[in-house]
Amino acid sequence: MPGPRGGRNFLTEEEKANAPEVTWPLLKRVFSYLKPYIPQLILALLSIGLSAVLDMYPSLLTGRIVDEGLIGRSMPILIKLVVISFFLKIASNLIGVLQNYMNSWIAQHITYDMRNQMFAHLLKMSNRFFTENNQGDIITRMNDDISGVQQIISNTFASILSNLITLIAALIAMYQRNYILATLALIIVPLFSLPTRMAGKKRWSLTREAQECRDEINGILNETLSVSGQLLVKLFTAEDREYERYRQANENMIKLNIKESMAGRWFRMMMSTFTSFGPMLIYLAGGIIMMNYDSSLSVGDITVMVSLLSRMYGPVNSLLSIGVEWIRSMANFTRIFEYFDMEPEIQEVKKPLKPFDSNGTVNFVNVDFGYNPDRQILKNISFSLPKGKCVALVGPSGSGKSTIVNLIPRLYDVWNGVVSFDGIDVRKLDLKWLRSQIGLVSQETYLFSGTIKDNLLYARPDASMEEMIEACKKANIHDFIAAQPEGYDTMVGNRGLKLSGGEKQRISIARVLLKDPSLMIFDEATSALDTISEDLIQQAIEPLIAERTSILIAHRLSTVLHADEILVIKDGEIVEKGKHSELVKAGGVYTELYEKQFKRLEVEEGKS
Ligand code: ATP
Repeated sequence: MPGPRGGRNFLTEEEKANAPEVTWPLLKRVFSYLKPYIPQLILALLSIGLSAVLDMYPSLLTGRIVDEGLIGRSMPILIKLVVISFFLKIASNLIGVLQNYMNSWIAQHITYDMRNQMFAHLLKMSNRFFTENNQGDIITRMNDDISGVQQIISNTFASILSNLITLIAALIAMYQRNYILATLALIIVPLFSLPTRMAGKKRWSLTREAQECRDEINGILNETLSVSGQLLVKLFTAEDREYERYRQANENMIKLNIKESMAGRWFRMMMSTFTSFGPMLIYLAGGIIMMNYDSSLSVGDITVMVSLLSRMYGPVNSLLSIGVEWIRSMANFTRIFEYFDMEPEIQEVKKPLKPFDSNGTVNFVNVDFGYNPDRQILKNISFSLPKGKCVALVGPSGSGKSTIVNLIPRLYDVWNGVVSFDGIDVRKLDLKWLRSQIGLVSQETYLFSGTIKDNLLYARPDASMEEMIEACKKANIHDFIAAQPEGYDTMVGNRGLKLSGGEKQRISIARVLLKDPSLMIFDEATSALDTISEDLIQQAIEPLIAERTSILIAHRLSTVLHADEILVIKDGEIVEKGKHSELVKAGGVYTELYEKQFKRLEVEEGKS
């Protein structure tokens, strides 16, 4: 009898090693998810119990069918008992349907609650959580672990209960008839279940080996038949070696396949042999008792015993794997709770401030910061950005420019010093309010799958078409959108129109404009855009810089020229600050940068 989950009713070494410690608080927490559904749970338990008992009844009636109906040769009794058995079976099956409905209703509702809770929790997690955790792991936890929980509730809990009831009812009925036969049955069932379990284990390990072998073969094929792989084989004349490697793996594969198929046959053979062995033994022992010792034991009693015995294999097998199911389910819960227990790193103060109006001013005072405690990135950064002004950050790649702007919307918190917005420490501000005041156009613009309009509306769902068009005109992208056959309804993203880096960035500028933030942060793309794209972006951002408080991370000279102040960042420190004209003459890092990078671009721009 296969276990409820994937036919594997034993633990792998890995599962054994990672088995969670089951503690009272853990159990309490697991059961807290059942709490809102207690009435439904009671109904489910009642239907499980009732259906299990009713299901047993026809087996008990077989005794009377044999003794009173057949041996007693009474047609009315025979018909009556057969009809009763029939209706009992129908009733038990109907209740089984209700039981199934209740189980899956409860399980689905609990997973619904858990998924919502998990998603809401994940949305609160800080940027660091997503940069440090693998996206695949997060999604696995969201999908597989929670589905595991659903299975436990709908299958395991229900089957434990129903199996226990069936087993206890069967044993009581057996002991009422004859305690020797009942004890014999009690010994036979688990004894015969064990070899079947062992065969199942062997079969599973073969399946796993075969899977590994299949992976190896796929690996060889991928390596040797890919364009670059086959070239490597040819150039190193490795054909014979590769052929031998493949042949060997192929041979292992067929051996394993034959073993696996035979193990399957053995498995089924054992199942059927052992399950038919039991009844034979009961017939034999029953016969001996009836003929030699106890004439009150009837043929019907022995038939009932046999019928009950065969009903016990399934429940015993399931109950033998409960330990496994239990550990697996607790592991699922523990993994889910691990996520729930992670506090979002960025927390609001008790009474966060939410100023009525915002002017977008920014102040950094002696800010130290690093992503990890062992590596400081920013050192003693101080600067002010007054209302309506523009500060440009320039410096070598990796010097910490993006890191500085990450601190303003509190994607991370400073180690030391203060970052303030509108004159207030960002840690004291309402987080949603703070972020709603900042428009960040990052290097990697992200547009999700959907229409251009959907992407724009993400900034402000109630924006009108006119507002959207106005924002797109300002961002220099309206003409491009209007030229598409479906205009603003053009699909973008994975399955839609493939946009260039420049087009994406301009759409994202329009999106930020719709948000109408009081502070605009523009992280210029480092990747080389063609001159036309650059010009279009340039034209888009110049007026924006002029009209609102803004920070520019600049890689190009033309952008820097418009800034009110330039901060030169090197190794996480502000090494120079001033206007372009002053800095060029200063003969420091900026002059060097200018010589190396900007001047070249200036020449190119001059030429084009
Ligand atoms: P670029 O001009 O190439 O965009 P930048 O000046 O903006 O560079 P930052 O992105 O601020 O540089 O990076 C500064 C340093 O911080 C780099 O050494 C980088 O490796 C490190 N860093 C950036 N992001 C993270 C992160 N999420 N976790 C750990 N370290 C990071």
